[in-house]
Amino acid sequence: MKLATKLIHAGMEPDPSTGAIMTPIYQTSTYVQTAPGQHKGYEYARSQNPTRKALEDALAVIENGKFGLSFSSGVAATDAVIKLLSPGDEVIAAADMYGGTYRLFSKIFEKYGIKFHYVDMSNADNIKPYVNSNTKLIWTETPTNPLMNITDIEALSVIAKQANALLCVDNTFASPYLQNPLDFGADIVMHSATKYLGGHSDVIHGCLMLNDQALRDQLYFIQKSCGAVPGPQDCFLILRGIKTLHVRMQRHSENGRKVAEFLRNHPKVERVYWCGFEDHPNYDIAKKQMRDFGGMMSFTLKNDSVETAVKLMSSTKLFALAESLGGVESLINHPASMTHASIPREERIKNGLSDSLMRLSVGIEDADDLIEDLNNAIG
Ligand SMILES: *Cc1c(COP(=O)(O)O)cnc(C)c1O
Repeated sequence: MKLATKLIHAGMEPDPSTGAIMTPIYQTSTYVQTAPGQHKGYEYARSQNPTRKALEDALAVIENGKFGLSFSSGVAATDAVIKLLSPGDEVIAAADMYGGTYRLFSKIFEKYGIKFHYVDMSNADNIKPYVNSNTKLIWTETPTNPLMNITDIEALSVIAKQANALLCVDNTFASPYLQNPLDFGADIVMHSATKYLGGHSDVIHGCLMLNDQALRDQLYFIQKSCGAVPGPQDCFLILRGIKTLHVRMQRHSENGRKVAEFLRNHPKVERVYWCGFEDHPNYDIAKKQMRDFGGMMSFTLKNDSVETAVKLMSSTKLFALAESLGGVESLINHPASMTHASIPREERIKNGLSDSLMRLSVGIEDADDLIEDLNNAIG
């Protein structure tokens, strides 16, 4: 079955009691048993819920996996993966990744004795010096936030297998429409479904997709023991969002290309970070593992000052100034003063994140209107 069909039909069965085509929101905490231990597979809603089950089945299918697990947020899904580890274990993580993942690793899990190495993964071989017998997990994100760096999932998976470590890929920026990391050897795919899977900026949700039954059982045990489960209404919204993922992503990608090319040709723009340009340093890898390039990008101005960037971002009319991404509406964000403000300026600039860098989540409005909005704001 092709992706567009899977997105609409995966995991969905007409409701057995009424025939409702949409899986109902089973707003219940418990389920009646006919005799102790005799039930229909549902005992208590932290462990199982029919709306969540429909979503988890759909999630597995759309990432070409066997199992899906859904969580109350993207960071809750990440948290569950790290809880597979024990004190003394080591993780090799991407240097350029979502700030909340870095915060979870460095501020929460380091104190439980898990060691994290942060490595530039734009060349997979860079991680080799950090691999040792304690390495249990390689955590990567591609494309990265906000610099749109690309890592080679297949090359990392080869190193992970040799090391007997798991490879987990945060696939939030690409979505299953653009990239399926399990097909390239990843063991676990993680999503902040808050972004493209939900697609309408109205829900916080996270998920994991994978193939291995034993690993699924361990993660399910963590999910029910730690309890970071989503409510049924949130599951319903993600199920609904998934049904239009392909048409939205197609437009995000088309608009993304138009906006990226407009910016690149603008005399006041210094540089555009978008993985669909043929001169992107890892374009070949992006082309190998992605079907298209999406609507996420960043750019800098020739006048590299916070003031110019702030002025631009305060004058866009369609691009709303906000954190988050992946919704139908276009957003603009200033990493230096918003998402990445906690990083000292010197370190930020050393990592390539300059004062005027602005990140765009290009929505699915008319591309001409979006370009006009940016053109007016750049001035
Ligand atoms: C938003 C985001 C997360 C965290 O997900 P939440 O749903 O906000 O908890 C993780 N990774 C990436 C790449 C994200 O953009």
